[in-house]
Amino acid sequence: MTVKRIKKYGAEILREKSKEITDFGKKTRDLFDNLEDTLAKAGGLGLAAPQIGIGLRAFVAFDKDKRRIFRIVNPEVLYTDDEEEIDMEGCLSFPEIFFSINRPKSVLIRGLTNSGKKIEIKAEGLLARCFLHEIEHLDGILIIDHASSQEKQFWQERLKQITSSTKK
Ligand SMILES: [Zn+2]
Repeated sequence: MTVKRIKKYGAEILREKSKEITDFGKKTRDLFDNLEDTLAKAGGLGLAAPQIGIGLRAFVAFDKDKRRIFRIVNPEVLYTDDEEEIDMEGCLSFPEIFFSINRPKSVLIRGLTNSGKKIEIKAEGLLARCFLHEIEHLDGILIIDHASSQEKQFWQERLKQITSSTKK
């Protein structure tokens, strides 16, 4: 069991574009084991590789309804619903902070498993939200980029606490 330290808002890697994965051997499996262990310990719904300091296009997402974990490599969004819904969204890189974010109600994504097998997954609701959130991480996009100026104002002190502890 390898639980990694989660990078917090302010860490540079969270703003970088991650690279495609071309290796489907032990290294990638280990990366996913670490992502899963770290997510399980932290108790979140999803975790992307840059959040544990690895700039590769990989994430894990927990499907609460079906109680299963998805391991996705090099994801692409093929389709998003025109209909959107707003919900409070958190991120393990922004501890204790929640922003209200509009996201498509359903999504179709394509990617590879950790052994390089092609998969397509249709998701709705919370899982769709989670997929879109994690895929954005791979392009350096964070929940704060969706937040209104009022919300950013509201969380200003907490955001400062997080970034100052990141820089230490
Ligand atoms: Zn996140």
